[in-house]
Amino acid sequence: MATMLSILSLVLGLLSFQAIAVPTPFHPRDVSPALPNQRALQNEIGRSLSKKAALYFPGQPEYKNLTTRWAENISPGFFVTVEVGTEDDVATTVKFARKYNIDFLAISRGHGTTKTLSTVKNGIQINLRQLQEITVAADGKTATLGGGVYNDNVVNALHAKGKSSGSGAAGCVGLVGAGLGGGYGRYEGFYGLVLDNIIDMNVIMADGSKKFVSATSNPDLYWAMRGAGHNFGIVTKLTYRIHDEISPTWYLNTMIFKQDKIQPVFKQLNKLIANGTMPARVINYALFAFNPNISTTEPVITINIFYVGSAQDAKPYVQPFLDLKPVSTRSFTTSYPDIFYAAGTGLNDFVCQEPIGSAYLYPMGLQTYNVPVIAQLFQLYADKVKSNPDFSGSNVMLEGYSLGAVKAVDPASTAFAHRDDNILVGFLPRWTPGANLEREAEEWGTKARTLVQSGTNGRPLSAYVNYAHGDEPLEAVYGYEPWRLARLRKLKKRYDPDFKFRFYNPIR
Ligand SMILES: Cc1cc2nc3c(=O)[nH]c(=O)nc-3n(C[C@H](O)[C@H](O)[C@H](O)COP(=O)(O)OP(=O)(O)OC[C@H]3O[C@@H](n4cnc5c(N)ncnc54)[C@H](O)[C@@H]3O)c2cc1C
Repeated sequence: MATMLSILSLVLGLLSFQAIAVPTPFHPRDVSPALPNQRALQNEIGRSLSKKAALYFPGQPEYKNLTTRWAENISPGFFVTVEVGTEDDVATTVKFARKYNIDFLAISRGHGTTKTLSTVKNGIQINLRQLQEITVAADGKTATLGGGVYNDNVVNALHAKGKSSGSGAAGCVGLVGAGLGGGYGRYEGFYGLVLDNIIDMNVIMADGSKKFVSATSNPDLYWAMRGAGHNFGIVTKLTYRIHDEISPTWYLNTMIFKQDKIQPVFKQLNKLIANGTMPARVINYALFAFNPNISTTEPVITINIFYVGSAQDAKPYVQPFLDLKPVSTRSFTTSYPDIFYAAGTGLNDFVCQEPIGSAYLYPMGLQTYNVPVIAQLFQLYADKVKSNPDFSGSNVMLEGYSLGAVKAVDPASTAFAHRDDNILVGFLPRWTPGANLEREAEEWGTKARTLVQSGTNGRPLSAYVNYAHGDEPLEAVYGYEPWRLARLRKLKKRYDPDFKFRFYNPIR
């Protein structure tokens, strides 16, 4: 009876304020057993949230939309989603979660793949999808971005004004989620990482207080949030440096090679990357994957050479690969926003579909390719995808962005520790959901990591936080110089002593 009353009061509570979406149907069985917390949620934060906010519970279709992730095996556990409409809504929700000692996690675009995200238990999702402001300042030098913006809408809004800046390379990914850990993308040879363009941030801290963070206001947090930001607060808004577009056109040549060409192709990539001195206008991106247009039985090697400018000017960088006789080649000359689609990383392309299946990601930062080891990596990849069709959607990304503007930044000036990596390898086991292959995927990923590390001449593992699997040593993620982790730990103790932000490769 008491339970019936609790449920009734919960439902009445839900109906009693406008801001909350009415849960139809509401299945009490589906929600957390911690009913007192849910009642308090209705009574306390429901009334304090703005009119734009909404609460969603398991069993509601919108709850499912808001909790669907890119990789469905990454599964933070929530009993409610608070879709915030304002900065104050974020603060209110954090204070509520804190009062009742409930886990909470901000979600923007749901592309995070670290398995530490799955350690959220019975928590509150703070969904940022309404925070979509993109305002270009009158002087054209900065833009104000909401905490939930993503690459596609930022790139297009800036392009419409003849502007561009750092962004990730896939349209669907959260710009802030990526930027708090780095933010690699095709324009970084000119503009640096996403985080190199953050001028200031409005941040909700672990106790629900607000801080304005910039080079002169809370400078220690400004340092930490650019590289380890997921550990320190929730960004509701930031000021972003923007630039006049470099070129009206971008060029892309996509060439496909079979395995027999792997060694000459990667030798040529090493020449192009030239130890991190590749010109700012050039980007290379290699991929090991199945391509049924070429072969249904053997995976192939795709080489993308991007150029900020014309096909003619790109020729010196593309021709050496064409000379190696790819089995297929396609080229595009288009605008910067459309290059995302030309490369298959646009908002509506397959890679941006959710969920894409079950997946893990293993990052390895390199300075140069050890060509025989890369050939072995291809073999390790090919053996598995050929022998187990459940893994056939797996791939290996070998990303070679231009780095001039990244290396021009003093490495000590941000918490991002990977400025001397010239290449980012992402090994992505992807498998059919329900196939029960987590352990096999992890064994495979670990093997790939060990193999690649065997070819680095003793350089220790460098693990980009936004690709981290979640089992890497913290030094690999946040830097080996002892002062880095010491500084992060000290700041963590000061700003998050109760370890509330502990779900994204946490600084222990
Ligand atoms: C298909 C795909 C393509 C990718 N491409 C790139 C790329 O080109 N370059 C690159 O650098 N990385 C890339 N990544 C990695 C990407 O940077 C991370 O997955 C990033 O965490 C995704 O952010 P999100 O908002 O989409 O995901 P979410 O899962 O919503 O967020 C990830 C983490 O960021 C935190 N977070 C998000 N928004 C905020 C905020 N406003 N304030 C505080 N914390 C916040 C969340 O709490 C969570 O811990 C890619 C990943 C995928 C799956």
